Amino acid sequence: MNRSGDEHNRDTALAAALVRFVNLRIRTTAQVERLFRQAAGQPAETFQTIPPGDVDSYRRIDQNRAHNWLLRVIALDRGRLSQAEAEQFQQKIGGFVVAKVRKVPRAVYGRRFRLEWAPTLDGVEICIGYATALLLADPRLRWRIGFCALEECKRFFFDPRSQGGRRMQYCCPRHSELGRKRAQRLRRSIGQPAGRSQS
Ligand SMILES: [Zn+2]
Repeated sequence: MNRSGDEHNRDTALAAALVRFVNLRIRTTAQVERLFRQAAGQPAETFQTIPPGDVDSYRRIDQNRAHNWLLRVIALDRGRLSQAEAEQFQQKIGGFVVAKVRKVPRAVYGRRFRLEWAPTLDGVEICIGYATALLLADPRLRWRIGFCALEECKRFFFDPRSQGGRRMQYCCPRHSELGRKRAQRLRRSIGQPAGRSQS
């Protein structure tokens, strides 16, 4: 894939926005629309919006869908999907994106005139589908998506490091510390069985 730096940054921003959206406590439609519009680099005038009173459809439909898809992306990444399940997921996302994303040419003028066929990411639904497709297509991007290992957290995270390394287990340093302490306590309690029987 010969993507430009701009495109690469946009793709990363879209993946990160998808994670933020799934974690989001949605209050207004504008909040959701701004999140994706900025990640996609779209002007406000052309980005699709829904009436503010319909905010619940972002929660019930789009957030639910994005949540399920992210769980599936993680399962795929960690090798927990069978070949058939992986293909089924590909078909679902591929079909969704093909049906929703328009491509309109953008004319580039200069010494060599050319047309660029960039996808038009001008709506919340489109951005969600496209970001999920990016995660399906790019193992390095997908690797950065995680689900906090702290039981009561239930937040997804997007690893800010692009170069890999040890996989992050927790969404933030605070939860990492908490998880580490808990694991220590557990080890200690296993290391010291109920005693008494020793004599
Ligand atoms: Zn967490």
